[in-house]
Amino acid sequence: MRAKPVYPRILLKLSGEALLGQLPFGIDADVTTFIATEVKAAIDAGVQVALVVGGGNIFRGEGLAKSGMDRVTGDHMGMLATVINALALQDAVERAGMEARVMSALKINQVCEDYIRRRAIRHLEKGRVVIFASGTGNPFFTTDSAAALRAVEVGADLLLKATLVDGVYNADPKKDPTATRYHTLTYDEALNRRLGVMDQTALVMARDHRMTLCVYEMARAGALMQILNGDENTGTYVRV
Ligand code: UDP
Repeated sequence: MRAKPVYPRILLKLSGEALLGQLPFGIDADVTTFIATEVKAAIDAGVQVALVVGGGNIFRGEGLAKSGMDRVTGDHMGMLATVINALALQDAVERAGMEARVMSALKINQVCEDYIRRRAIRHLEKGRVVIFASGTGNPFFTTDSAAALRAVEVGADLLLKATLVDGVYNADPKKDPTATRYHTLTYDEALNRRLGVMDQTALVMARDHRMTLCVYEMARAGALMQILNGDENTGTYVRV
């Protein structure tokens, strides 16, 4: 009999920018294929997987507002950008031999399902990869906050944030060679030191619901499975 996973249900947050890969704009198919491979290992190990994807590779409301656009309109465009990314991920996940469902917080049900919590949980129980799109469905939020919210809503055992570096550092490791990685942090430390782990709204949400967060390097093959097997030396863990 297969051993029970350490984290039976996870929610993995992927930034839109990560999907750029080597491209200046858009979605790099090599990246979505890689993500699907990593997710497949988790699904094959019996882990239920939900994804939240950002839209920063296409539009961010804040950036659009800086060039003069109405902020709410910009945020609507940002949320629609996450739907585009979610569809690309759904396609890659299906091509890798899994079932997937995109569920959107904004109603756009000719291209994907509406987000209905009980249905999302049912999909997860059936081993389908659920991809949450449109963030929270509200302007002025981010997909980090959507990830914390959905993780709490669907009862995830672990919230993961995939980043470009292998955890949270006390300084930018790309600029400062003396920067060191934290193995663990409390939410209050992450909030007070403004470490940029996730935005503050997301951190408060995760803290108040005692969700464990792991920040890890997306591009390292096998890192996700190391975490899911209980290796606490991979990534940085944030807890209450
Ligand atoms: N967004 C929003 N509400 C949400 C989530 C996202 O309005 O609940 C908009 C916002 O404009 C944001 C954009 O969608 O900038 C893309 O999301 P995000 O910036 O979080 O993407 P990422 O940085 O993860 O690629």
